[in-house]
Amino acid sequence: MLETRRAQADDAPAVTAIATAAYSGYLARMPEGVRPAPLDADYAAAIAHDETWVAELDGRVVGYLVLVAAPDHLLLENVAVDPGAQGRGVGRELLDLAETRARDLGMPEVRLFTHATMVENQRLYERRGYVETGRRRDDEFDRVFYVKQLPGVVDDLLSRDAVRIWQAAWHVIRSRDAQLLDALRDALPEIRGATADVELGGGIRPNREALEHAFGKIEGFRAWACWCDDYPRLLQHDPSREESLGHVVILHRDVSGWPGEYRCECRVCGRRFDVEEGEHHALWWRWRVSRS
Ligand SMILES: [Zn+2]
Repeated sequence: MLETRRAQADDAPAVTAIATAAYSGYLARMPEGVRPAPLDADYAAAIAHDETWVAELDGRVVGYLVLVAAPDHLLLENVAVDPGAQGRGVGRELLDLAETRARDLGMPEVRLFTHATMVENQRLYERRGYVETGRRRDDEFDRVFYVKQLPGVVDDLLSRDAVRIWQAAWHVIRSRDAQLLDALRDALPEIRGATADVELGGGIRPNREALEHAFGKIEGFRAWACWCDDYPRLLQHDPSREESLGHVVILHRDVSGWPGEYRCECRVCGRRFDVEEGEHHALWWRWRVSRS
């Protein structure tokens, strides 16, 4: 199974090894004395200071992604897949993740650059919707710059496209961007009108429910004491995901029995929750504010 998670300090050797394996092949075509920048990056520092993710295939780290947040965009600074794991969707997953994180952070676009000689990567980014914005020399590197504009959440909600609408609903549910939510509140009457008769589908948990939950958050979040007010209201807040996003700390985890149990602490307000993990066709989590 392919999974992504935030990199930990002890992932640095694996990440470095992937960079070496993935980028050494370009040495031959670089100008004399120039090495691909990812070969000399300090991955321990990237894990400590930037937003670094790893992709695991059946529990083995096979790819990584380094993201750097700028005020008006998310920079995809470095990405690679172990050559032995290429063709298994790892790169696509990591590029999807960059876009998801940009949206989670309220960024309108993802930017990246690559070396002019790495033409395979340029084609790959172009197929993914990246547009070249320029070429220039940075120090000894001849670089090609790309940008991918992400459609806004408002546009998605007005699109009448079921997939875009439910993805946008989940974006709203996970968002902690008050500015975005205020903008959505202003557009809410129009959004309600545009989504009212779109068949959203979904199985045991209709996607319409997620959309209604998103609307409730847009209308009500200003009255919340903390972002964690939402946890007890929805069964789809996964403690592990919330922890990987830096929203909670899992103080205790026991998934050996059934139901699984977690104790989590909100990193914003310090409130503690007891979380029960159950399964009914899909995992769910029932959050309750801890009494002790
Ligand atoms: Zn909180």
